[in-house]
Amino acid sequence: MAEIKFIKNTSPKAKPSDETQLGFGRSFTDHMFLMDYTQGKGWHDPRIVPYGPLSLDPSCSVFHYGQEVFEGMKAYKTADGSIQLFRPEENFKRLNRSNERLCIPEIDVDFCVEAVKELIRVDRDWIPSAEGTSLYVRPFIIGCEPVLGVHPANNYLFIIILSPSGSYYANGMAPVKIFVESQYVRAVRGGIGYAKTGGNYAASLKAQQDAVGYSQVLWLDGVERKYIEEVGAMNVFFVIGDEIVTPELQGSILPGITRKSCIEILKDWGYTVSERRLSIDEVREAAQSGQLKEMFGTGTAAVISPVGELKYKDETIRIGDGIGELTQKLYDELTGIQLSKREDRFGWIQKI
Ligand SMILES: *Cc1c(COP(=O)(O)O)cnc(C)c1O
Repeated sequence: MAEIKFIKNTSPKAKPSDETQLGFGRSFTDHMFLMDYTQGKGWHDPRIVPYGPLSLDPSCSVFHYGQEVFEGMKAYKTADGSIQLFRPEENFKRLNRSNERLCIPEIDVDFCVEAVKELIRVDRDWIPSAEGTSLYVRPFIIGCEPVLGVHPANNYLFIIILSPSGSYYANGMAPVKIFVESQYVRAVRGGIGYAKTGGNYAASLKAQQDAVGYSQVLWLDGVERKYIEEVGAMNVFFVIGDEIVTPELQGSILPGITRKSCIEILKDWGYTVSERRLSIDEVREAAQSGQLKEMFGTGTAAVISPVGELKYKDETIRIGDGIGELTQKLYDELTGIQLSKREDRFGWIQKI
């Protein structure tokens, strides 16, 4: 792959002054990475240029048929000032699995990891350092052939943007309430549920909007509306008696990298993790019999999010009392590895 061309932003923006007020995805750094794909030529012209609006033909396929895939990861600044990423190659491998499903051409994983690192080096002064903050990295690909016919595009644009992000737990980690969605569904097997693509989010907005008072929606399977799938942008785990359970990946669930990392850590600690079908009825019954000990969500944004309550139809299912023991232990371990406060025994950290 070619050298990455660099055009420096000669009018840099003022950086957010208060790192405690960053929120999520509201401000962007001074540069972005772009790369084009042209049929017959492949990916070409990788470049880092000033962050700013794109000029696209209104007929581009992404606007009409949603041919788009994306990723999300974070760069962390550690106590000694070094900058690092958590398993970035996993994100680009997953991007390729999403690409395959959406008929988007494959990208070179190693090159994209290098591109992310180079972009972060350029904008390194934007990485916040307050407790819990990070630089959110959003790579995405859009189909941009200017033709209205329904077919995979012949041209694509690969883009990476960076956004300084605040602490997910600005007010401390606390259990959240989740609404179990029994009317709308997010994805079905055979569909695009396992791909990280905007269409899945478009399908989810209505349920999220209707679930007033709940931080997220828990999706059930699209056929029987009985088996647990995942939450908003998080996978889910349950501790039922002595068993740790997470729904198996069967095509409609997004295969989270945090999920995968939790399973690997838990196995390393000597626990067994069951990846299997889990019905909402089994969760209700476990709660009634006192066997439902913990529930937590896993995802890049929150890392680990304790769940304290589920609302299913007219029923309120309460889970544990405060933050579960395993939930806290996993949170401490994962964030410890990400910030190099704990040993990186799996080789997950890449320094920039
Ligand atoms: C990104 C995402 C997740 C979490 O994946 P991570 O790799 O752990 O961040 C879970 N569900 C959905 C729908 C997602 O888009």
